[in-house]
Amino acid sequence: MNYNFLFIEPPPGVKLEDWHNWQWQTRNALKKREDFSNYFQLSEEELQAFDNPQFKIQVTPYYARLASLNNPQNPIRKILMPNIREYQSHSQQMLDPLGENQHRPHSRIIHRYTDRLLFLITDYCSVYCRYCTRKHFTGKDQAFINQYDYESALKYISQRKEVREVILSGGDPLTLSNERLVQVVKDISQIDHVDLIRIGTRMPIVSPMRIQEDLLLSLKKYHPIYFMLHFNHPKEITAQSAKALSLLVDHGFPTFNQMVLLNGVNNHPAIVKALSRRLLKLRVKPYYMFQCDPSEGSDHLRTSVENSMEIQRKLWGNLSGLAMPNLSLDIPGGGGKVGIVPNFEVHHQNEKRFYKGWDGKEGVYISPPPQEIIIPNDVFDYQEE
Ligand SMILES: *Cc1c(COP(=O)(O)O)cnc(C)c1O
Ligand code: SF4
Repeated sequence: MNYNFLFIEPPPGVKLEDWHNWQWQTRNALKKREDFSNYFQLSEEELQAFDNPQFKIQVTPYYARLASLNNPQNPIRKILMPNIREYQSHSQQMLDPLGENQHRPHSRIIHRYTDRLLFLITDYCSVYCRYCTRKHFTGKDQAFINQYDYESALKYISQRKEVREVILSGGDPLTLSNERLVQVVKDISQIDHVDLIRIGTRMPIVSPMRIQEDLLLSLKKYHPIYFMLHFNHPKEITAQSAKALSLLVDHGFPTFNQMVLLNGVNNHPAIVKALSRRLLKLRVKPYYMFQCDPSEGSDHLRTSVENSMEIQRKLWGNLSGLAMPNLSLDIPGGGGKVGIVPNFEVHHQNEKRFYKGWDGKEGVYISPPPQEIIIPNDVFDYQEE
């Protein structure tokens, strides 16, 4: 399959040079009702949502152009457009669905697992996704961390020897200037026990012109750095975002995608499959497919666990293992992620385990007869790692 990714043209009157400047995209972001109504034909439900928004509204002109101007049912439009349904009361409405505030040893650190932690270096995003799980922090105009908090966060990380990965998150770390971001990466890479840095960003999707060679050349000095992206829909892969992805991969950044299943946006196997195949072709590994967290005002965008499991079932075996994202949900209240995997075992009896595969074919796996489990004799060489 040869994909022809759509080149997103600037609107009339905007020079291509400005359009491809990420700071221009931020400066010209749509924020107010007037910005949106000049641009979109707004429905009643959308118009009313601007009266008293509970969560910040902002969209880059580039990303706005991926959405339909007159159809509120358009998938990209549902991701970016506020809706009055955000204010209705919900089944499990939580400002902090992941209980992150209980795992916050520092105002900017979420340390939920032993060997890895999130470092929230800015609360700012170029586009605020309506279903954002971190509404307790994101878009509150706190911006870049102050010097005192920054130094104490670095100190926390350097004192916790068990931390092997630092995940830069927020907000969106790529909204920082090159100098700031490179300084953060440099400071963290100097901590001996940190093996790698991940950068979680949606900029390649909402403002792909952010990915420029000068930034990548400065960052790659501190490899290994992994990029964790957040594409939700095949329409988000354009000529511009495909270019951003090839720059990332060409500069040696392993790149992964974490999607969120959203009602009426991407909750169908055909859409997940198309997204995954296109990403894979662009050398990006589909990593997670998340059940949407019950963040405040997101019920109308959430889909059921049954629906998600059904999507996963249909893809399993029909889609390359490389293209298959792991379905996962976060236990509300801070239990962490749990993987949801189809159960293929029909039953077991002593050493015999009976399985039914993805296409219905059954078989049995017989374990070796009961015997002593031998621990590898060089295990001591690895126990410190
Ligand atoms: C998701 C998450 C991580 C990363 O988990 P992986 O499964 O390694 O991708 C780390 N810390 C927190 C708090 C998270 O929510
Ligand atoms: S980019 Fe991420 S942090 Fe920012 S609003 Fe979207 S989901 Fe939330």
